[in-house]
Amino acid sequence: MAELVPIRARTLLRRSKLTDGWFLSSCGMNLYRGCEHGCAYCDGRAEAYQIEGDFAGRIEVKENAPELLARELARLPRRGFVLLGGGVCDAYQPAEARHGLARRCLELLAELELPVHVLTKSPLVARDLDLLARIDARARAILSLSVSAVDPEVAALVEPGCAPPEERFRVLEQARARGLATGVMLTPVLPWLSDAPAQLAAAFARARAAGVDFLLVGGLTLKAGRQLEHFLTVLGGAREELVARYRERYPADRFGNPRGGPRLDALALELARRHQLAPRIPHRVFRGVLELAVEAGLVLEGLAALHALGGEPRRAAPLLRAARSLKALREDLRDLVRAGLLAQVPDLDDEARALCLELVETGRCLRYEQGMPDHS
Ligand code: SF4
Repeated sequence: MAELVPIRARTLLRRSKLTDGWFLSSCGMNLYRGCEHGCAYCDGRAEAYQIEGDFAGRIEVKENAPELLARELARLPRRGFVLLGGGVCDAYQPAEARHGLARRCLELLAELELPVHVLTKSPLVARDLDLLARIDARARAILSLSVSAVDPEVAALVEPGCAPPEERFRVLEQARARGLATGVMLTPVLPWLSDAPAQLAAAFARARAAGVDFLLVGGLTLKAGRQLEHFLTVLGGAREELVARYRERYPADRFGNPRGGPRLDALALELARRHQLAPRIPHRVFRGVLELAVEAGLVLEGLAALHALGGEPRRAAPLLRAARSLKALREDLRDLVRAGLLAQVPDLDDEARALCLELVETGRCLRYEQGMPDHS
């Protein structure tokens, strides 16, 4: 049992200039510092986040988080999904059962009718499905469960404080039964532990059986220093033969990027098509929820992702440039189209302009719908 230390934080929301294409959010929060789940690969251990001491054994509880959230949301420049999760803690780690910070923050977001994306590894989120359904009825709520391996033995090794993957899939089924948009973040996929084609195929099959709307695949990064060394210590205790291979794949790199190794993109796209699971959060999930320029940017980014996964980065690049430009746009996209000023938006080529026009006129993008795997 971890030591829980109440603190009063000065700020809560971390904000980014552009809406993130993976999570659909431009702001998120850490309700705790440290995480009892204690995942061996956790990025939160890296020196960059300045969490000293026992990362999984001493958890700081930001007891004034709901008050901070109320204050900081009032100052947000634009409406978008608020991300509850990610960063340096899991909002539904065991401390949440006692402190209820995530629930209080969701209550506030429900009151304000703001869209929410919850990302967690914990079945404790099932406690708040009523609240997420209420948010979904007025704004939009997405629930993503993160899984690094469907094999329970691998998961127990690298995620010692988490529920087994199967329990996480069952929560997704419950959320789906309530009509929520759901997804799996299959990340980080671990070299030699959970990256075999049969293991990835099993994850896709289980996610499809759970009826989720999307499955995103992400690789492992291990930043030089505490994150890398902790992971290798855990690995060495159970799979010593892999330590040297990991040392070679993950040289002491500041950003933690691997050197070489197989790319998962082609296989991920093939599995996405076979199981009709979108490799990005599908447009139908966020249609009409965000400002139209941001929505258009995310649609273009989704198309770019299909090209990138399919090994065509050159086709992805102009779409990504256009997506960035649209997401940064301050003007209303409809007004620009009506005034015939779309050509003035920087970095939009003919293809991007045509997609924007279609979106403004019909609310849809046929090329996206035809290309994006989706079982709905
Ligand atoms: S659940 Fe997330 S934040 Fe918590 S230890 Fe695992 S990876 Fe880190």
